[in-house]
Amino acid sequence: MEKAKKLITITNLTRMVMALAILLGLIAIYLIFSGPRTNETGNFTINKTVVVVANGDTLSGLLLPQGLSHNDVIAIDKILKSDANISTLRAERDKLEFIRSDATAPVSKIVVITSPWNQVELTCDDSGAWACKKLDIARDTRAVHKSGEIQDGDSFYLAGQRAGIPTSILAEVYDLLAFEMDFERDVRAGQKFSVLYEENFSDGKKIDNGRVLAVSFQALRGNVKMYYFKKSDGTTGYYDENGNGAIKSLKRTPINNAKITSKFSKNRKHPVLGYTRAHKGVDFRASTGTPIPAAGAGRVVARSYNRGHGNFVKIRHNGSFETLYAHMSKFAKGVNVGTTVRQGQTIGYVGSTGYSTGPHLHYEIIKDGVHVNPMTVKLPAINNLGKQDKEKFLKYRQVIDTGIEQLSKNPSLYIQL
Ligand SMILES: [Zn+2]
Repeated sequence: MEKAKKLITITNLTRMVMALAILLGLIAIYLIFSGPRTNETGNFTINKTVVVVANGDTLSGLLLPQGLSHNDVIAIDKILKSDANISTLRAERDKLEFIRSDATAPVSKIVVITSPWNQVELTCDDSGAWACKKLDIARDTRAVHKSGEIQDGDSFYLAGQRAGIPTSILAEVYDLLAFEMDFERDVRAGQKFSVLYEENFSDGKKIDNGRVLAVSFQALRGNVKMYYFKKSDGTTGYYDENGNGAIKSLKRTPINNAKITSKFSKNRKHPVLGYTRAHKGVDFRASTGTPIPAAGAGRVVARSYNRGHGNFVKIRHNGSFETLYAHMSKFAKGVNVGTTVRQGQTIGYVGSTGYSTGPHLHYEIIKDGVHVNPMTVKLPAINNLGKQDKEKFLKYRQVIDTGIEQLSKNPSLYIQL
């Protein structure tokens, strides 16, 4: 993002705030490029050892090899719990930085990093007492825009990757669009899509990606658009261009990016054979062991086995909907009849139990006791906007749309948030 240029700043809808932020941005850029870089203490000989927490690591196992004493371990353990709310360190995620004034000096400072945005500094005074403070990591968030087009034989993932959209953002976009789209039927060559999402910077360096702020996809039945928006009560959600909740009570495709191998079909007698099996759900191809997320929040009403479905789970959702997931290789731990599940929670794993020719998820939606086509059934939104928020949203959407329009003309620009 070295060539990135700031387009506009939207912290508020007022010009003053925009102007101020642009000014601050210029100051920040000035600071980044001015003068030689020094570390916090201005001492160039500082020695830093970074240790990533591994499986089975204990605090003493991490601290003792760095020359700290058992008393230090006890004090640090106590202070981390009481002052930093850190009671366990997570393997492969948390990092410890040990800082010494030179290679042979004792550790004078430890930085516990649980995320780029959450860092705790532990310092030891001359009497050997440890103190702890949370470091204030300045975050600079920019909204960037990427757009692409589906080509022949493409999946949305492939096209998204070609457009330079990071995998984690693509997965979120897919999750969002899965409420509105059938990726099997709705994706064709020539369709355009775009994503506005956050990139987080600290000290001019990109650290990670943030939220998806807006999505647009030219689906067959019209443009699907979704916007991230904060309501006046502080809660956030995704809304369509008219301000209706974009997150539906149920997902049409529970498993991300799974290909549909058999569609829903009504029970109809075949004129020649005399019978046809109705296909009361949709089959998604996925390999054995793929986690199956609950399509919506609800309560497990069946967790059982029968000859046709094999291992299956049935969930009753708010209102009149139920969903069923069949042919599981196994159930998820803790999922029993009566268990309350949230949307996206793993309830079991793909398999080929029951009447099945290979590993897949057979997924049914039952509305008021009747099987319906998961791909076409109208699904209720779970979060709609009140009158005031809707007005606010529509204004916000115009600002975002204008921003997107300009960014799409010049992809090296970004919006300062
Ligand atoms: Zn099926």
